[in-house]
Amino acid sequence: MAGKREKVLFLDIDEVFTTAGKPQERRVVEESVARLVKARDTAGYTRFAFITARSGKWVLKEFYPFLQKHGLAGSSTIHCENGLYEIVNGKFELSPEAQAFMPIRQLIAREIEAEIAGRGVQAANASENAGKIVQVRFEPRTAEDAEALRLAVSAAIARLKETGRIPKAIRADITKSGVNIFPNIDKGTTARMVERRILSETGRKVRGKAIGDRPEEDGLMARGRHVKWRGVRGFEEFNRLMDNLTYRRPAKRRRI
Ligand SMILES: [Mg+2]
Repeated sequence: MAGKREKVLFLDIDEVFTTAGKPQERRVVEESVARLVKARDTAGYTRFAFITARSGKWVLKEFYPFLQKHGLAGSSTIHCENGLYEIVNGKFELSPEAQAFMPIRQLIAREIEAEIAGRGVQAANASENAGKIVQVRFEPRTAEDAEALRLAVSAAIARLKETGRIPKAIRADITKSGVNIFPNIDKGTTARMVERRILSETGRKVRGKAIGDRPEEDGLMARGRHVKWRGVRGFEEFNRLMDNLTYRRPAKRRRI
């Protein structure tokens, strides 16, 4: 069947398959995971690519057991820290970019620690507490310290790049809750890696949907005409979207 495409769902996890609230308090909603069985059996989705900012430790403990329980693990790939590593048979497989980053991870952390100490910024290395395997994470002590932390991190990273000690492609993502430093990998580059891999494994290009709750981050998973972006505000809306997928198919029945 020339031209047939592999139907794939690219999926964010938080606030698509979880309750809302603080990240550490969110719970995975089993009915939302179970909806994927229908997406597979009725709507013909053969593969699910989960691309999450979460650490692999959280995914293995809180999310992966539901994939196993519903027989979805074999048709799923799980990409953590936005794709810096993948969970394969319960182990973490680093991407080439992450492998290249590991030797400079401590150098970056030490440089930032020295910078914040020198400036008297109230912030700390939170990589360990956040369960990060690859990313370096710093958190301000209070929201008021966030701007000073941002400036300190920017200065430390710029100095490391200028002196050629780290590659130019290292990024620092700054949010109110903290700063993450990592290789130039995001949900978009990861989704395209998945597409390339499926093409090389099956000879088929991909079509499908990319579903998440944050357009600016999850929207990167969608590309071109064949992967459509669908934003949802929480698991309830995701459930409805999945239910509509399955009901769209028996068109004849609707006309009766
Ligand atoms: Mg999310």
